[in-house]
Amino acid sequence: MEYISTRDKSISVTSAEAIVCGLSADGGLFVPNEFPKVSFEKIEEMAKKSYNQRAAYILSLFLTDFTIDEINECVDKSYNKQKFETESIAPTYKLSNGVYFLELWHGPTCAFKDMALQILPHLLTKSIKKTAQNKTVVILVATSGDTGKAALEGFCDVEGTKIIVFYPENGVSEIQKLQMVTQKGDNVFVASINGNFDDAQNGVKKIFTDDDYNKNLNDKGFMLSSANSINWGRLVPQIVYYFSAYADLLNNNEISPSEKVNFVVPTGNFGNILAAYYAKLMGLPINKLICASNENNVLTDFIKTGSYNKNRDFKLTASPSMDILISSNLERFLFDIIGNDSMRIKEWMKELNDSGKYKIHDLTKQKIKDILWADFATDIETKNAIKETEEKSSYLMDTHTAVAKNVYDKYVLETNDNTKTIIVSTASPFKFNKSVVSALFGDDEYKNLSEFELLSVLAEKCNMKVPSSLSELNELEVRFNNLIEKEQMQDAVYKALKI
Ligand SMILES: *Cc1c(COP(=O)(O)O)cnc(C)c1O
Repeated sequence: MEYISTRDKSISVTSAEAIVCGLSADGGLFVPNEFPKVSFEKIEEMAKKSYNQRAAYILSLFLTDFTIDEINECVDKSYNKQKFETESIAPTYKLSNGVYFLELWHGPTCAFKDMALQILPHLLTKSIKKTAQNKTVVILVATSGDTGKAALEGFCDVEGTKIIVFYPENGVSEIQKLQMVTQKGDNVFVASINGNFDDAQNGVKKIFTDDDYNKNLNDKGFMLSSANSINWGRLVPQIVYYFSAYADLLNNNEISPSEKVNFVVPTGNFGNILAAYYAKLMGLPINKLICASNENNVLTDFIKTGSYNKNRDFKLTASPSMDILISSNLERFLFDIIGNDSMRIKEWMKELNDSGKYKIHDLTKQKIKDILWADFATDIETKNAIKETEEKSSYLMDTHTAVAKNVYDKYVLETNDNTKTIIVSTASPFKFNKSVVSALFGDDEYKNLSEFELLSVLAEKCNMKVPSSLSELNELEVRFNNLIEKEQMQDAVYKALKI
């Protein structure tokens, strides 16, 4: 299989090259030139298999320059009992007749990014060997919280890699900070920036684009790479759990063969829901994909009107991992919808870059509406959804999942569609416990407790177990205490690499 750039389809690379490069040189994103088809018989076969076998099968369809042994090795190193708190890796939970949750947060950092960031390091190190480069890969991450920790866990002690994470000193939650500064591993380095997330991100971008700096690193045997969500190596592992969830419902006789289901996906950068769309293209029986946003509702407006416009206030919400105004992976979706017209994508992305907006034509809009349905939830609606679902069904959702639940309720009200539906649950309620506690018990009662203390409050009140990766946090040694100015990031990289 070949991978082509969304902005110039004459550029073609192998999957290993796509994973090593991350982004195409023309600024486009790599996508497969065609999508493999999975027959319904194959899906029934998958139903009898373990998560790892399902993953190896789906990955093998895309990573055609990997051997099956290599794929199995990557899969088994990522999805196992040491890393995930449940043997089924991505279990489904039945909320009520015809409504299910797909829980993607049983990994080491308690959020869905683990599903891809556990396996990406292994795919990346294999890809680097294939592209005949003999360098230590240095992963640079600027994070507002979740991605940094998930990347640290994924790359921790992976041979041939180093990982350096920068976060804004006052821009992450208490738990997120603890998660990062206590990170284990001999190849990890963490520093905070005296600045905000944009400063951290701009600093990382500057390092990536500084030719002299990169040449110097290269001479010393290092090569920079990124683990961000536009890398194909993060997308393909996400296709797996859509097939897996469907297979689980088949196994439990919740659906009949070939019965279509809806998926509701809490969306930020459009990576997770794009994987669902790819699963549909491959033959998974999917009816509607429901795109749920928070108050940063650029995507809702786009899907309803056909105009993408990021010129609006950026809002800090209770679902921070979806606080995004430019959903990068939408580019891949549009590329497919308009029949791989890379010239048109290039124009739209230039308009987005120059003026912050672009508009698609009505036919394209209609095509998108056949596939997607979109709406958003305010913070108040999100918190109400948490409380209501806990009271009615004794099921505790985090804020991101609650956005999806609220939007699903709106969808049913508007469409009366009673197709069986799987709501994608992207984080453990313990991870965003401050908002969850406030949703359940109001803002006052526990306002003097730290996020850490709130873990046990939540566990006790809801009769749940705190994930061990969170409960052990205050016993771990703080390993990193580096607060630097944003001008010092290049030096910090040298220091981390001991050069
Ligand atoms: C990243 C993230 C999302 C959004 O996923 P995208 O792939 O960026 O759309 C939703 N929920 C949680 C908890 C996340 O960490």
